[in-house]
Amino acid sequence: MPQKKITIAVDGYSSCGKSTLAKDIAKALNYAYVDTGAMYRAVTLYALNNGLINGKQLDVESLNDELDDIHIRFTFNPETGVSEIFLNEELVEQQIRQMDVNDWVSQVAAVPEVRRKMVSLQQQMGKEKGISMDGRDIGTTVFPDAELKLFMTADLEVRARRRRDEMVSKNMQASLEEIKANLLHRDQEDMSRQESPLRKADDAIILDNTNLTREQQLAFALEKASRFIG
Ligand code: C5P
Repeated sequence: MPQKKITIAVDGYSSCGKSTLAKDIAKALNYAYVDTGAMYRAVTLYALNNGLINGKQLDVESLNDELDDIHIRFTFNPETGVSEIFLNEELVEQQIRQMDVNDWVSQVAAVPEVRRKMVSLQQQMGKEKGISMDGRDIGTTVFPDAELKLFMTADLEVRARRRRDEMVSKNMQASLEEIKANLLHRDQEDMSRQESPLRKADDAIILDNTNLTREQQLAFALEKASRFIG
């Protein structure tokens, strides 16, 4: 009998390893994986590249006017084994991880029209189930009926070191203090925004991975998933 396909939502704070886990789950279950943070990052990159962010100001009105010109898609790269993000047909996988995108993404992601567009795209991508999606509002807004919802957390120090290692591996520079400040700032903005703020869904399972290895957190998630898959 074929296995039942479910929807898996992985939410939580910044740099808790959500995408690593969601990707590992997708690989183990042969599911599609969607990094929704990358989508908000791509919109932010568009805003930065098109003069919609000047100095300290995001021009929300112009961003809303130009939303129909922002086309985002993922394409699976068989060489790297991951889905890569394209903004208006340009591969932007590297650019969206830059520090200036980090600095602005939470403000861009707080714009209701941006969220509505992204949520609708995400729901479209997951309508066949068999999907593992990570973000901030997947279990609360995008897929409130997801069978398995995980909410990830970890110590700030550990999260900052992980983010720094990730940046170093991509030849990007940032100090630990700068990264910590950015993580705290983003979490704060994500939790306090009006439209679908970051919060744990009532039926989400908390996963604190401060002291877990990658294998251990995957085993935890797969055990929970197996209850729904059969
Ligand atoms: O996951 P990542 O850190 O790449 O996400 C970047 C930012 O995008 C988050 O800090 C948050 O502001 C926003 N985001 C969001 N909703 C999601 C995913 C990401 O608001 N579902």
